[in-house]
Amino acid sequence: MTWNNPEASLLESWLSRGDRRLADVIFHAWQNGARFDAWTDQFNPEHWRKAFAQTGVDPDYYSYRARGLDEVLPWDHINAGVHKAFLQKDYEWSQTGQTRPDCRGGCYICGILSNFNELRLLAPDGGWKCP
Ligand code: SF4
Repeated sequence: MTWNNPEASLLESWLSRGDRRLADVIFHAWQNGARFDAWTDQFNPEHWRKAFAQTGVDPDYYSYRARGLDEVLPWDHINAGVHKAFLQKDYEWSQTGQTRPDCRGGCYICGILSNFNELRLLAPDGGWKCP
């Protein structure tokens, strides 16, 4: 069993879910002395809490708030190759304890083929095995 420092996990939640307002927080945290936060001997969560207070940004907005499926997310403009609707379906299933069956038994049209079709053909073993 392994675990993380909960304060470090909170920082990860802010950085991974944050929107443009977090840029100000990061800058203030840096001014407060935040450096090498992935190193446990360097990480000081007070730099970050102070930065949130200085900027008036609520950290709980990023770490504890439930998101609606219709919410526009800060990273929606980044094309990861997989359709958002595909990921939303996985999320909905996870809420009922279901997982998506292996797609080698039937394609779900996740979106990677339309996004990476040329890259697919360059794969060393003759291409991805998607239909
Ligand atoms: S078979 Fe390929 S295209 Fe279809 S769902 Fe799986 S990864 Fe996506």
